[in-house]
Amino acid sequence: MKNIKHKSISKPVFSPYEIDASQLKGKATNVIFPKTISDVKAAAALNSRITIRGGGTGLVGGAVPQNDVVLDLSKMDKITNLDIERRAVDVEAGVVLDELQAYLMPYGLEFPVNPSSHSVCTIGGMIATNAVGSRAIKYGDTSRWINWIEVVDSYGALSKKGATEISDYVGMEGTSGVIVRASLKLVHRKERTARLIPCDSIEQVAEFTRELKREKEVSMIEFLDKQISSWLDLDNQYHLIVEFESEDGDLKDVEYEELMDKRDKVYPILAQKGYVRIEDPQMMLDRFERMMPWFEHNQIPVFAHVSVGILHPCFSKEQEKLIPEMMKIVKKLGGKISGEHGIGLLKKDFIEPNDRKILINIKKRCDTQNKFNMGKVV
Ligand SMILES: Cc1cc2nc3c(=O)[nH]c(=O)nc-3n(C[C@H](O)[C@H](O)[C@H](O)COP(=O)(O)OP(=O)(O)OC[C@H]3O[C@@H](n4cnc5c(N)ncnc54)[C@H](O)[C@@H]3O)c2cc1C
Repeated sequence: MKNIKHKSISKPVFSPYEIDASQLKGKATNVIFPKTISDVKAAAALNSRITIRGGGTGLVGGAVPQNDVVLDLSKMDKITNLDIERRAVDVEAGVVLDELQAYLMPYGLEFPVNPSSHSVCTIGGMIATNAVGSRAIKYGDTSRWINWIEVVDSYGALSKKGATEISDYVGMEGTSGVIVRASLKLVHRKERTARLIPCDSIEQVAEFTRELKREKEVSMIEFLDKQISSWLDLDNQYHLIVEFESEDGDLKDVEYEELMDKRDKVYPILAQKGYVRIEDPQMMLDRFERMMPWFEHNQIPVFAHVSVGILHPCFSKEQEKLIPEMMKIVKKLGGKISGEHGIGLLKKDFIEPNDRKILINIKKRCDTQNKFNMGKVV
């Protein structure tokens, strides 16, 4: 019999767009890369479910498609209308935070919210997750730094949302519409210094944190537990990394940069060591003191934006079974299940019924065709 040669039809490879930093795996039916707002309007008006994607650094699976078209906004990266006097700039959603900071540097300005994923995360992703980060004590979350946003709805219509309406989109993790552009508030760039403070006990960590929070020039208080400290080649003690927007820190220039680089290495080192699930409960400082023994008893490494009570306990695959117990304790202590990463796919089961109701109402009102990020958050 004659050999019949089948001409192989190469299938498009979607796999890089079927995951995010949570490492959950989904399924994309197509990937679209809009370059303009008109492209987004056309894509949003298609008769398909859409997963919105920025830099893909989310840690809860928000950008992981569930048999949807992926709308990847990374090519929408224009920065326009810098107003130096008013300290404002307009950006498209796909602008990466570090690229924005590099653009602003010659003008002595910067965007003040600083998540550790700054080299990859996009402004659209930061707005959608209401990102926080290491300078939360001084600058809070992303929502504080927005003048207006422009969004595209499921009919492909564009609208501008000002101060009173942005809460339908900020922190909604892309479930209510596509954020395509934003006007951001900026601050003057600061000369910064830092101090590394070793601590003998969690009580001492809390005591120093309370004192430092009273100082006006403190812009960052990051906590490292003993285990993480030793992985960063520090002494086997607890540590606080404290940043000052003044000369108060003893680490300046290169030494300051080295300490900040060390801090940014925490996530990659944990991933390398097999701690792949990074959680983000938030609680008051005195509750942090009560929570830490549970983490230490279960050998779960923890770092934290301790000034605002956002903890990052890091679970290995084998330890993930402990997460429901942690959530119970967090709730009992009056804490929140997520301080900055959002709900996505991973934390849906832990959301409080009242919060779910509010989120469902916003989704119903804004995404009337049930198109965006289906199966996420609610
Ligand atoms: C190493 C590392 C460090 C991190 N550090 C921090 C930190 O310090 N603070 C913090 O808050 N988070 C942190 N994160 C989490 C993450 O980086 C942030 O949530 C970030 O804001 C996500 O941006 P992104 O562009 O990567 O969004 P993606 O991961 O692509 O998307 C995140 C969510 O936003 C939605 N979305 C994205 N773009 C849009 C848009 N234009 N319109 C509507 N919805 C959209 C997506 O659908 C998804 O639900 C960290 C993550 C990593 C991997």
